[in-house]
Amino acid sequence: MVPTKEYERNRTEVLIETFIRKQLRLKAHTVTKVIEADECMLVHIDRIGKRLLRCGVCRQRCREVHDIRTEREWRDLSMRKLPLKLRYRPRRVDCPRCGVRVEDFPWAEPWARVTTALFNAVAMLARELSWQGTAREYGLNWKSVATIVRRAVQYGLKHRVRPPVHAIGIDEVSRRKGQVYLTVVYDLERRVLLWVGEDRTEEAVRPFFTQEMGKRRCQTLQVVCMDMWAAYAKLVREHAVHAQILFDRFHIVKHLNEAVDEARRGLWRQLTTQERVTFKGTRWLLLKNPWNLNRGQKDRLSTLVRWNSPLVRAWYLKESFQLFWTYKQPWRAKQHLLKWMSSAMHSRLEPFKKFVGMLRSHLDGVLAWTGTRLSNGAVEGMNNKIKSISHRSFGFRSAENFIAAIYHCCARLPLPVER
Ligand SMILES: [Zn+2]
Repeated sequence: MVPTKEYERNRTEVLIETFIRKQLRLKAHTVTKVIEADECMLVHIDRIGKRLLRCGVCRQRCREVHDIRTEREWRDLSMRKLPLKLRYRPRRVDCPRCGVRVEDFPWAEPWARVTTALFNAVAMLARELSWQGTAREYGLNWKSVATIVRRAVQYGLKHRVRPPVHAIGIDEVSRRKGQVYLTVVYDLERRVLLWVGEDRTEEAVRPFFTQEMGKRRCQTLQVVCMDMWAAYAKLVREHAVHAQILFDRFHIVKHLNEAVDEARRGLWRQLTTQERVTFKGTRWLLLKNPWNLNRGQKDRLSTLVRWNSPLVRAWYLKESFQLFWTYKQPWRAKQHLLKWMSSAMHSRLEPFKKFVGMLRSHLDGVLAWTGTRLSNGAVEGMNNKIKSISHRSFGFRSAENFIAAIYHCCARLPLPVER
């Protein structure tokens, strides 16, 4: 497009100092000069005349400036490829409320060595990439990124919204494969992470109820969803008296699948070598839904059926159990489950008897499914996300950093506001 005369007239040249001053939204300060140094741009900032500065603690405007400190430097977002650094001699103000304090910087948090703009950019990228990758992207070292994420989490936890929680899911994740466990608590309605704690014992989870939730917020809890094997049931009865304990559907199915698997392995040990050849590779066949099998697979399954092995009984038991999830009326669901339990007890399959024993001692919490229709499946994606956080960083060496990374990626925490 050819520029019109009007366009020519409206165009104004912007000095780089003005540009940066506007970008930083400076009011009581100004950019005095911008110097191109080796591998960075130095932006010198100074106070404008006697404009009032704010207290760094309460952000109140203060009349008196106590003294001028030595020059400090802040990293800012790069300008094209050049890193930008701000330089300024902070004033200490005499705040009527707080006493002598360092002034409030409009471009950064009081403790920060980077501007809020860079802080937020790094924090956002660290939600997607590993800390190492984020550091490379912004020309920082890993430690600075770790500090930024930990600070962001601290800020976020302090400033996050805390609406009433009605349904929570408690689950566990491992930091290294199969060992060093963490307990995670999700809000099942908002599908957001509420809390992470080291270890998976009753004592380790107690702070969630006593500190994170507190007595008053525990009152609104209606459903607590967890694994039958978890040790938190007592804790829930103690702190959340109105809550119904619900044993998680996906964990129950997992235990059921394990029973099928164990029955298969028990049978395997009894087979002759010749029989083993035909049986080989049937494990997945039993774990799959029957309508997903192709013709050859169905044939193999029917061979197994013809042999009338205990495995088939195990398979039918597994399939018939699944009906339980579909009932709408609690008494029907209960009737089905009780019938199923008695037929499983007569199946002559030890693993199923064990499974029934587990159901029997947790019956209330299993039956609660029909009324609540809630499960940790709603936050299954979040558990996978945590696994991928651990993977992309090749595992975290300290639990503290891993916990910070989990909060940072899953708890939807707010970031500091750019002023
Ligand atoms: Zn103050």
